[in-house]
Amino acid sequence: MRDGTEATPRVYGRISAVMYKVTLNAKRDYATLHHHPWIFSGAIRDVDGQPSIGETVEVCSARGDRLGYGSYSPQSQIRVRMLSFDPRVPVDADRISNLVAAAVARRATFLAPASPTNAFRVVNAENDGLPGVTADFYDGFVVVQLASAGAEYWKQALVDALMKHVPGCRGVFNRSDVDARAREGLVFERDCVVGPLAGEEPPEFIEIHEGAIRYLVDVRKGHKTGFYLDQRDARAAVGSFAQGADVLNCFSYTGGFGLAACAAGARSVTHLDVSADALALAKRNTELTGCTGTACDFVEADVFKQLRLYRDQARTFDLIVLDPPKFADTKAGLMRASRGYKDINLLAMKLLKPRGVLATFSCSGAMTTDLFDKVCAEAAFDAHRDFQMLARTRQAAVDHPVALSFPEGLYLKGLVLRAMD
Ligand code: SAH
Repeated sequence: MRDGTEATPRVYGRISAVMYKVTLNAKRDYATLHHHPWIFSGAIRDVDGQPSIGETVEVCSARGDRLGYGSYSPQSQIRVRMLSFDPRVPVDADRISNLVAAAVARRATFLAPASPTNAFRVVNAENDGLPGVTADFYDGFVVVQLASAGAEYWKQALVDALMKHVPGCRGVFNRSDVDARAREGLVFERDCVVGPLAGEEPPEFIEIHEGAIRYLVDVRKGHKTGFYLDQRDARAAVGSFAQGADVLNCFSYTGGFGLAACAAGARSVTHLDVSADALALAKRNTELTGCTGTACDFVEADVFKQLRLYRDQARTFDLIVLDPPKFADTKAGLMRASRGYKDINLLAMKLLKPRGVLATFSCSGAMTTDLFDKVCAEAAFDAHRDFQMLARTRQAAVDHPVALSFPEGLYLKGLVLRAMD
């Protein structure tokens, strides 16, 4: 099983003898011609036949040119997700396997003996040519999230490919309990989409490391696939401002930024989160890493309220991290989300000591870099303080790449700001 050479042939999703054909509207083929992987329902002129959920369709321009192949999703606004932009390269289990192998090859540095970490993203969905497929590697175990009709359709091929191509892969675990599946008309109930798919079952906690920092990852109950691998570069950026600092790590989850600050010689770190479970793990991670030189505090509270409490207590910090959950899922929710971002940023800016540093993030895809800059600038204005931008961060490079043809792939934005006085 491990090398994918077992004798019994695998049964993949039905490969139809009749290839369904999707024809685009005139003037609506620009995106597909430029390798954008999404085809919205409004761009489609007609569909030949009745492809069912996840089945492969041939995509043609209004003139009848074949543009490639994608997975059909009858219920989603994103009606087709492209898996091949080459009419000569059909979509079958081999194609899926090749896409996985290519994604793994791009991450060779993470698998090299000198790698500072044993945890990284193996497949970054659209950006690696596999729409809706996320796969994260945690010390030998791969955790997948299959969020689209096509991803689910090719599940077995994907699992086999991961077992075969990821060196040292001991098992593949499913964490497809994502809301996006509902929009696709896929089963999303936790009981049905969380569990082992191949190989060994992961232990209750998988221990990973990033340099000297050690984290326990709960792949069954943790957020997303268990850990925020996407903030790796930002953790390093925060560490570079942490020496001797009193740090407030808001939305701490299992400690991420706070541990990076400890490792960089922070004087104190206060982790703040509403989740007792997350804080308990943050504490265990602190002990595991051995952050003895830093005074660590774990506060279970709502960030919106706690920042106001600190304000009333006139408590101040040298370095504040704001890494909230997604406030906006869609463009429609953006106004409300902007108010939320402005509120916490304004409060945090007021709590900074002179020349203090704020590392602030937004993982809402709908929030653009420009809008996030503007929200932060307005927060600074209302806080009556001037700031300098020291750095911009984004989701970790190399293992969370953004396809140039798919700007939507950039979802995580960060700013490191320093109060001028
Ligand atoms: N910074 C973390 C990831 C943050 S995930 C890391 O790098 O690992 C978002 C976290 O915010 C979750 O742990 C969630 O429990 C917490 N959270 C959500 N809403 C909150 C609120 N209003 N107050 C405090 N914590 C909140």
